Amino acid sequence: MKGFPMSLRRLVPQRRSEIKQYATYRSYKRFLREDFNKRCGYCDADDKFLGAAVAFHVDHFAPQKKFDELKTDYKNLIYSCRFCNGAKSDYWPSECHLTSVIDEEGIIDPCDSEYDKHLARNDKGYIYPLTKLGGFIHRLLKLGLTRHSVLWKLHRIEENLNKMDRQRDRLSEEQLTTYQLLSSEYRSLIAYICEYGDK
Ligand SMILES: [Zn+2]
Repeated sequence: MKGFPMSLRRLVPQRRSEIKQYATYRSYKRFLREDFNKRCGYCDADDKFLGAAVAFHVDHFAPQKKFDELKTDYKNLIYSCRFCNGAKSDYWPSECHLTSVIDEEGIIDPCDSEYDKHLARNDKGYIYPLTKLGGFIHRLLKLGLTRHSVLWKLHRIEENLNKMDRQRDRLSEEQLTTYQLLSSEYRSLIAYICEYGDK
């Protein structure tokens, strides 16, 4: 199918280069949220479907258990959904914080565009690996779960509804009624998911 495989993400997150030093890593969450476009760095889930910023975590790329000196280093922090953060846990393949991959096993900083060379999405929104390292990351972060496809589809429905909204002047009365019904059903579904999605 045209356009597939798709890249896992539309945007590669970019950490700001200048930032004030804070005493706790949690203080960086609001900056990370902006720099990561309100999405999980690892699986690209939109935070609004998973309880928004309150339910999102600040992950330490090189784990703080092993590299305490990087605990509040902004370059080492990732805006992450709780599922990816939990799955990754304290995993690290080496004794050096700069070595995140050994023999095609490891993890890549999602702010590096290299991340997208190893993982992609199919036409159903499922994430799948493109390389051996991608396969390792896929297993480590449980990126094969249906959840990732469902969240991608929700985002796509919303984009299409927004597109229709911009074209509402051109819709017939019947089309407009159908659009309004779909839009209202979608919004009540999202309100439900956003309230209960992280439980
Ligand atoms: Zn995630």
